[in-house]
Amino acid sequence: MPTYKAPLRDMRFLINEVFDFESHYKTLPNGEEATPDMVEAILGELAKLCENTIGPLYHSGDHESCKLEDGQVTTPKGYKEAYQEYVAGGWQGLSHPAEYGGQGLPMSLGLFKQEMMGTANWPFAMYPGLSLGAMNTIQLHGDEEQKATYLTPLTEGTWAGTMCLTEPQCGTDLGQVKTKAEPQADGSYKITGTKIFISSGDHDLTENIVHIVLARLPDAPKGTKGISLFIVPKYLPGKIGESNGVVCGSLEKKMGIKASATCVMNFDDATGFMIGEENKGLECMFTFMNSARIGTACQGIAHAELAYQGSLPYAKERRSMRALSGKKDPDAVADALIHHGDVRRMLLKQKAIAEGGRAMIYFAAQYADNMISGILEDDKDKYDRWDSELGFLTPILKGFLTEKGLEVANDAMQVFGGHGYIKEHGMEQIVRDARIATLYEGTTGIQGLDLLGRKVLLSSRGKCVRDFSKKLLDFGRKYLTDSDLRPYAWKLLKIAAEWNYLTTRIMLVAAKDRDMVSTASHDFLMYSGYAMMAYFWALQAKVARDKLENGGNEPKEFYQAKLATADFFFERMLPTAKGHAEGALKPTKSTMQLAPEHFSFDYE
Ligand SMILES: Cc1cc2nc3c(=O)[nH]c(=O)nc-3n(C[C@H](O)[C@H](O)[C@H](O)COP(=O)(O)OP(=O)(O)OC[C@H]3O[C@@H](n4cnc5c(N)ncnc54)[C@H](O)[C@@H]3O)c2cc1C
Repeated sequence: MPTYKAPLRDMRFLINEVFDFESHYKTLPNGEEATPDMVEAILGELAKLCENTIGPLYHSGDHESCKLEDGQVTTPKGYKEAYQEYVAGGWQGLSHPAEYGGQGLPMSLGLFKQEMMGTANWPFAMYPGLSLGAMNTIQLHGDEEQKATYLTPLTEGTWAGTMCLTEPQCGTDLGQVKTKAEPQADGSYKITGTKIFISSGDHDLTENIVHIVLARLPDAPKGTKGISLFIVPKYLPGKIGESNGVVCGSLEKKMGIKASATCVMNFDDATGFMIGEENKGLECMFTFMNSARIGTACQGIAHAELAYQGSLPYAKERRSMRALSGKKDPDAVADALIHHGDVRRMLLKQKAIAEGGRAMIYFAAQYADNMISGILEDDKDKYDRWDSELGFLTPILKGFLTEKGLEVANDAMQVFGGHGYIKEHGMEQIVRDARIATLYEGTTGIQGLDLLGRKVLLSSRGKCVRDFSKKLLDFGRKYLTDSDLRPYAWKLLKIAAEWNYLTTRIMLVAAKDRDMVSTASHDFLMYSGYAMMAYFWALQAKVARDKLENGGNEPKEFYQAKLATADFFFERMLPTAKGHAEGALKPTKSTMQLAPEHFSFDYE
């Protein structure tokens, strides 16, 4: 079983040496207290909580899973106590305003927390994670009374939150939402309908649960323009214990994340309160989604990291045959797996995705901090600017990192051979748990459409790719004559040119053939993920090289390992991007020509 160990060295490398969070925090209105000492203390305390309390419940939670009895969901043994420890430590309000009981620190610290907790035990981390979305929505779109009522217990963690979007007939196409909201004389609404797949819909960790619900007013226009957003608490404030007509009808039986309660929620004349304006519910929800999607992107690296923490020691211990280059451990019966090239390939892939993905997320975390600054400084233009920058990164992070996290979790299982398939080693659980990440918070397909259709083509006509790829070009030009960094620089120049070429070609074809956006979207998303990760590996390699020359906080072997992993990524993983580029440019015909009735001649 992998036992979670916080990767503090890698986190510190990124925080201090690659992204210089100390300088970044000095630019933020809420960054004053985030001094290096404070950040170090937070990371250290979080590591203890995750290693000693949350992580050890990962496998037992999977084995036991959640139970529903008499309309009440109970979480696995130990979850309640661990959650209480989390609340007592004030962790839920780490990045939320002090006026509601939070610590008011920058959002990036919340993302570091999400990463650590999620890697230690993703299903556990989902309970507080969902609450964060509810808190952000109320903070941004709630009125003063709603903020005063809900934000303090949510920030303290004594109440939890959910997001209730999905219904049996729709998850992606929320224009089909049917849940009804009937206005009442006192300004509240009666909410009636069924939501499915609701994470943390019910549980025994908090005294109340605040549901954020999409529903439709009686005369609302059809489709997405007729959806409003409501707060529907499990218990109305001041009436804890008295049902508000919201119950968990059943728990979904599912492949993984078994300790996370996925609920069918029945709303039967439940009292709710509108957030934001009538029929603008989806717009409010979108702010909610950007932060939620970065949180889910963390799931990709969480599983990559934990899988690596399981497969690396196994590859060093398990012995099989002799290395092709000659015996490595002549006194032993055979050499360890780690000496075989194919096993090293699988290990290095995990390392490259976990560390490369972490760099991508930490970079995005600085954008998220800047976006929140816009709110704190009441500067709408600043907020919009950073929200839009983040909006380009979000589908790439969510789509690419969750797909790659799943792929390398599978590689980790493969390192164990048949033993990976057996429950005892805990690797199959990681694969099962990783699978959901590409589905919820918008499937990979939807991330691809969001990226290519909405962000790249419609909103910016390729400008967002031009802007981001400038970073690759700048690196490439600057280090093309640097003997250590030339190989990375040269590849970044090629990738930057190719990324822009792809964008322009797809834009031209899509102007005449609209199906192009959908048929190209997956390959474009994956290409963009590789391109972005290449930049962050080059950046890490540059910093590692500099630290090797001038001295850094870590031993020289750490920096050498960074350079070796960068080499592996550029030589053995990046070529996959080429296939995606080719695929993205192919005409739509081969995908679209087969008539639906001809997909099979043997069955419907
Ligand atoms: C464990 C779990 C937890 C969840 N937690 C929550 C939660 O807390 N709250 C909540 O509201 N929901 C939650 N969900 C629901 C989840 O967000 C949805 O399942 C997801 O958004 C996909 O919706 P769907 O299942 O209806 O699939 P569909 O929308 O039916 O999609 C099916 C397939 O078609 C593709 N597709 C659909 N439309 C298009 C298109 N226009 N172009 C190209 N491809 C398309 C999709 O990419 C997908 O591959 C959860 C789901 C699970 C399984």
